[in-house]
Amino acid sequence: TQTKTKDFLGHPGGLSTLFLTEMWERMSYYGMRAMLVLFMTASMQEGGLAITVASATAIYGLYTGSVYLMGLPGGWMADRLIGGQKAVWYGGIIIMFGHIVLAIPNDYTFFIGLILVVLGTGLLKPNIGAMVGQLYSSDDHRRDSGYTLYYLGINLGSLIGYGVCGYLRINMGWHWAFGAAAVGMAIGLLMYRATLHKLEGAGAEPTVKLSPKAEKISWTVIGTFLVGLVVVTYMLMNGMMTFRPVIVAENFAIIATVLFLGYFAAIFFLGNNNPNEKRQLGALFLVCLASIFFWTGFEQAGSSLNLFGQNYTDRIIGTFEIPPEWLQSANSFFIILLSPFFAALWINLAKRMITPTYGFKCALGLIIMATGFLVMFFAAQVAATGLKVAPYWLIATYFLHTVGELCLSPVALSAVSKLSPKRFAGQMMGVFVLTYSIGNVVAGLLAGNFDPNKVEDMPNLYLQISLFTISIGIVIFLFTFKTKKWEKLAEQPSS
Ligand code: GLN
Repeated sequence: TQTKTKDFLGHPGGLSTLFLTEMWERMSYYGMRAMLVLFMTASMQEGGLAITVASATAIYGLYTGSVYLMGLPGGWMADRLIGGQKAVWYGGIIIMFGHIVLAIPNDYTFFIGLILVVLGTGLLKPNIGAMVGQLYSSDDHRRDSGYTLYYLGINLGSLIGYGVCGYLRINMGWHWAFGAAAVGMAIGLLMYRATLHKLEGAGAEPTVKLSPKAEKISWTVIGTFLVGLVVVTYMLMNGMMTFRPVIVAENFAIIATVLFLGYFAAIFFLGNNNPNEKRQLGALFLVCLASIFFWTGFEQAGSSLNLFGQNYTDRIIGTFEIPPEWLQSANSFFIILLSPFFAALWINLAKRMITPTYGFKCALGLIIMATGFLVMFFAAQVAATGLKVAPYWLIATYFLHTVGELCLSPVALSAVSKLSPKRFAGQMMGVFVLTYSIGNVVAGLLAGNFDPNKVEDMPNLYLQISLFTISIGIVIFLFTFKTKKWEKLAEQPSS
């Protein structure tokens, strides 16, 4: 699709629409997520829910896992029923209501609010990501760079979210901070509405229209699911059913993995793909595997690395104590700093006819991320002697994690948009978003091995994670010799 609207930093104008909408959606998502565990574990006097740490972290894992799990039906609905544009619009509205409900001070509203955010994000997240790719023709080399810019928007949003919600939480109280997330999403919706024309039809219609009968059945299934959800929520709230978050969370990883493999296999074997499409899907599968292992390591930022920051890092500068949360925002900060370089790097390499494959970049990203855990191995050895380590160790780790993230994450999004058959655009993004879901939950389970009272075990745990991930990275790298040719098939403008 050639664009007629004004360019956005050398990219199709529609990228600015998606950039700004996703920026505000992520502001609301990360702003709220940052205080979620704090809110659950805070005492009643402090205005919290007084839930135990074990349950709260399990609910947190379930929540982040579910947000991305719902991307699967969300992507399907866009492809077959309503198109990406409507999915993003209604998804955003549901998210906004979720945050409004959370802002009402009452512990019943808490779970209803979370469920709404999960449902809305499932509709919005995969489809906005898929629409970015639809702005480019299949031989347009700006695609990777476009996704890198889009990724910058994601992290600008998260930084605003951490700042605004964090500030409001401390100075005004929980519900103001939750309210701010609703306002953020509302701004995103307004921006989306006002600049929708720039998308020039990308995502306006479902890619494959269902027969009226199939459409009716689909809506009935969706309706039944929602009614079921309302009933279960009602029963949970009235104590008619008990909810053991830890056990549910443990099973979640298995279900998400089975769903990922099953859905991918279904599209591969039953999707009427021609041999070239099958090869491209094969190349994409490798990218998805890299993504799972990547997020499994990376998403420990909030757990095992956060604990290290809290307990074993010297955070005192003069009379000032750096809050452990601040160390976390290093990731968003480095993304914002480095994104323009990466966006330019891919374009410049392409100009010199150097186009590293998706598989290669993802293997590289995985290995670089794993070296971050090698840094932690050394840091933990110092900590094991009883000394507190300097903050640079964690910052260096986050730096390596971010460089790895920029090699892998935006690139993988671009790969999904390019290597999947158009009629599955939203669904494949939904399947891909499942890799986030698996990564987030498994990261939580792994972090459970870190016992803050057994510092002597820490170096080895970090070393194991690092070596294991490096090995996976090498295996993926070796497979790229095979998938390289498969990826190239997608270059043909006709596909
Ligand atoms: N930060 C990225 C996003 O919000 C990736 C999130 C993840 O957990 N994989 O889109």
